[in-house]
Amino acid sequence: MERRILKERKNIALVAHDHKKKELVEWAVYNKEILKSHNLHATGTTGTLLGKALGQPVHCFLSGPLGGDQQIGAAIAEGKIDVLVFFWDPMEAQPHDPDIKALLRVAATWNIPVACDRSTADFLLTSPLMHTEYETLLPDYSGYTQRKIK
Ligand code: PGA
Repeated sequence: MERRILKERKNIALVAHDHKKKELVEWAVYNKEILKSHNLHATGTTGTLLGKALGQPVHCFLSGPLGGDQQIGAAIAEGKIDVLVFFWDPMEAQPHDPDIKALLRVAATWNIPVACDRSTADFLLTSPLMHTEYETLLPDYSGYTQRKIK
């Protein structure tokens, strides 16, 4: 198994669909003090709202439907994102549904913690592991990467 160390200060990616943005911003403001000890990243619109509400720098990717979800997925694959908080809307199809599926898939591929609703986000953020170094066990993909192509 390969390992990756998640430092005490985590890189958290935050994404919320339009009907979920208010809920995510409320959650973030409520948890403002905890979030201060981490680096925040987000899709464009979510990040702009969070930056204003928190008064903390938020690194913004492109807006989700314009490729932001894919950028976060790529950052996860590169080991640059440790935690994903993704309030996706279960009541509305999105124009970028394939990107959403891809983001959730890549998060599972790299075994990073993901919260898709407020209660899971609460459990995640209050975990002692959020504030300590954590060794992630990465799935062994060598069988796949070293497969013989005929
Ligand atoms: P947004 O993207 O933060 O730019 O609105 C979120 C999304 O729909 O993926």
